[in-house]
Amino acid sequence: MLNLLDKCWKYRLQVVCHLCDHVSNVPELNENQVAVCRVCGGHVVEGAKHDDEKVIAFATTASILLLCSLLFELISFSRQGLVQSMGLMDVSLVMVKHQYEPLGALMAATITMLPASLLLFAFFLHTPLRKLLPTSLQIFMTKAIFFCKDWSMPEIFLVAVLVSLVKITSLADIGMGLSFWAYIGFVVFFLLTMLNIHRQNLWDSISHHSKYPQYPTRGRAIDSDVGGCHTCDLITKESECPRCHSAVHTRNPQSVQKTLAWLATAFMLYIPANIAPILITVFLNSPEPSTIIGGVAVLIEHGSYPIAIVIFVASVMLPLAKMAAFALFCWVVTKQKNICRLSFTQIYMIAEFLGKWSMIDVYVVAVLAALVQLSGMMEIVPGVGAVYFSLMVIASMIAAHSFDPKLLWDLEQKYADKE
Ligand SMILES: [Zn+2]
Ligand SMILES: [Zn+2]
Repeated sequence: MLNLLDKCWKYRLQVVCHLCDHVSNVPELNENQVAVCRVCGGHVVEGAKHDDEKVIAFATTASILLLCSLLFELISFSRQGLVQSMGLMDVSLVMVKHQYEPLGALMAATITMLPASLLLFAFFLHTPLRKLLPTSLQIFMTKAIFFCKDWSMPEIFLVAVLVSLVKITSLADIGMGLSFWAYIGFVVFFLLTMLNIHRQNLWDSISHHSKYPQYPTRGRAIDSDVGGCHTCDLITKESECPRCHSAVHTRNPQSVQKTLAWLATAFMLYIPANIAPILITVFLNSPEPSTIIGGVAVLIEHGSYPIAIVIFVASVMLPLAKMAAFALFCWVVTKQKNICRLSFTQIYMIAEFLGKWSMIDVYVVAVLAALVQLSGMMEIVPGVGAVYFSLMVIASMIAAHSFDPKLLWDLEQKYADKE
């Protein structure tokens, strides 16, 4: 009996919940099992999948489809005998052409370069070639996968392409090229690759968690003076993670101050992003600037209600709601308010997940500007509002990353101490 207990103890996995800081002692899980935090219900770890072949197959297919989507025509646009077509890279090049080079770089990074890097690293780390790589390179690649995952937006770009097509379908004849179908396939296989990447497996294949000391702890990690590494999930007393060498904090230092600073930046950018024109339609040499709200009004006039709702919610409501939610979190934490922590944590998770979908309108502008270039007749030019808007989305994403949701659960401790 004792041996059995000893074995269970030895091979269990200790994980600190990144939402509420409670330590879970998880026994070995089967493939389809998921361990959830008993306090906040957040997922702490999934059962190990032995899906190396799947990841290799999905990543290879996605890479080939991405390459195909770069080589051919994405969409063609014809009006009164004039034909214009665009490729995938034209969404970046059109920004460079109009002197918005950083925006062009952001487009290229989020829709092709970061997803391509993720696929490359995932491929290498799931093949036996991995063993030939130095540990430091394996650590770098694993960290890079999760960074690229947060900043890759091919699925948002795909929805933006579809929205753009609906927007201009009444103006001209639209044709979908080979790249369009290849990009759809790429997004599907890219998402399948991400779904099959198992964080715990990747880190355990670099250095197994059982090699590191275990701590007989229950309750909050901070009370036992241990912390969970945000990068590889290892539980440790050190200030530098012994496995991935990232800094380990029990709480994100100056989380509220950093979040508020980024929120203020995002809000200051939100105002010009909505006042300045996001795109300029040049029809027979007469420019007509259009703001985000102006664009929504035009869509309603043309009866495109679903697209008007998508753009209005993603570009106007979502950024404001997200900023309001994080400002509320900071206020609650600073003023030590007694709140329903579970609901607040769920709002935090939704706000963090949905944040990057605000980029949809910037992609729509880039697609329209790359596609509609019938000089002398009709041209769409990106406006400076698109730059403010992208910076606003980036600032609000950094604000969300800066906020430590464990602070919401520290309030529980404060009220428990008072009782
Ligand atoms: Zn939790
Ligand atoms: Zn670590």
